[in-house]
Amino acid sequence: MVIFSGIQPTGRKHLGNYIGAIRQYVEGQDRADPSIYCIVDLHATTVEYDPATLRERVYDTTAILMAAGLDPERCILFRQGDVQEHTELCWLLTSVTSIGELNRMHQFRDKSVAQRQLVSAGLLLYPVLQAADVLAYRAHEVPVGEDQREHVELMRDAAERFNRRFGETLVVPEARIPTVGARIRDLQDPSKKMSTTSPSPAGTVYVLDEPDAIMKKFKRAVTDSGSEIVRAPDKPGISNLIELLAVIRGTSADEIEREFADSRYGDFKVAVGEAVVEYLRPVRERYTELRGDEAELMRILAQGADSARALAAETLADVRERMGVA
Ligand code: ATP
Ligand code: MG
Repeated sequence: MVIFSGIQPTGRKHLGNYIGAIRQYVEGQDRADPSIYCIVDLHATTVEYDPATLRERVYDTTAILMAAGLDPERCILFRQGDVQEHTELCWLLTSVTSIGELNRMHQFRDKSVAQRQLVSAGLLLYPVLQAADVLAYRAHEVPVGEDQREHVELMRDAAERFNRRFGETLVVPEARIPTVGARIRDLQDPSKKMSTTSPSPAGTVYVLDEPDAIMKKFKRAVTDSGSEIVRAPDKPGISNLIELLAVIRGTSADEIEREFADSRYGDFKVAVGEAVVEYLRPVRERYTELRGDEAELMRILAQGADSARALAAETLADVRERMGVA
């Protein structure tokens, strides 16, 4: 069984990424052979960015993933830009991707209206590159947060269309989305997900935030009218905090509601903040150590790229052959 997932190095990674995705990556190391995790710098160029910062963030993200528990001896960890098969397969897959489908993707719609200058073609083609990322490794499972469900659907369509048109070649992958914590919401605007590239500074909790900063963000978290600590469609703020605490404690949301039945919003927010501080503390501490040795991070990414390239090259050889371009 092969697992593949990608994570962007733009901006800084946040609690939503940690709970929705990174936690699953770590667990995937024990279930798959190989599990492959990719820092998708090419995806990060689809919105405005600074080249020097992007390069730095690749190392930051590598160190965060390792601090969270990824072990380069047990998984393949690499930078997308180091393996050219991704971009080649992206182009080849455009032949089996419909523009109507791309146009309907929520991420494209949301991110294109958020652009102040250029709405790049890359933003539209983003899911095709993402399909190439996964399909190049013939991955069976793609651990992602809820927001990526439709992109995985699109890559499944592309793989199926490819197989019908050119003969059985690609594996049709499945999304693996956590049942709780798949969509952590922005603490200031619970109608939105926490996000790397359109951050609301007070609403986004970063994996590397200091305890004081984390507590401040939770104390200021937007809650809803009323005073009961229960999940409800008209209580997205409180529901988000309940889910967060349930995930961190490894218990159910019902259990959290029972425990805090007699508490006030203010006390509950402090309890969640404290739990998050302790949850992220060991990651932040290990990060500082790992990030200090950039040469070692470079070595790990280079080694990961060698392993990844060997796998992707095999798929690409088959794809080229089937498509009549080799
Ligand atoms: P952007 O908003 O710019 O796309 P992002 O915060 O989604 O950035 P990515 O690197 O695109 O960051 O996502 C990495 C992984 O984290 C993906 O699997 C994504 O589904 C997951 N993820 C992102 N945000 C959340 C969230 N708020 N809750 C749970 N999972 C999330
Ligand atoms: Mg994203």
